[in-house]
Amino acid sequence: MKQKVLKNKYEELIKVAELATGRKETISLLHKAESIRSKITKKIRYNCNKCNGYGYRRTSIDGAKTCLNCFGKGYILNNLTKKSD
Ligand SMILES: [Zn+2]
Repeated sequence: MKQKVLKNKYEELIKVAELATGRKETISLLHKAESIRSKITKKIRYNCNKCNGYGYRRTSIDGAKTCLNCFGKGYILNNLTKKSD
C-alpha cells in the first residue's frame, strides 16, 4: 500500500516537473522524484532475466555486450515504464 502511495507521488512529481517552467524548479522536483523512486526501486526491482543481474551478456569468450533488456543496470523495474507520447 505504501509503495503505491510513493509511486503515485512519484508520477505526480514527474508530471509537475514536466509542466514546470523554471529550470531550478524543474530540477528540484526531479530531485524529489528521484529520491522517491529510489525508495520504490529497492522494493520492486527484479534481476533481469536476460543477463541474470549482471547488466551485460557474453557474446563470445572475450566479448561482452551491454544487456539491452535492462540497459546495463542488471535489474528491471516492475510497472514503472515511462510513458511516451
Ligand atoms: Zn539484463
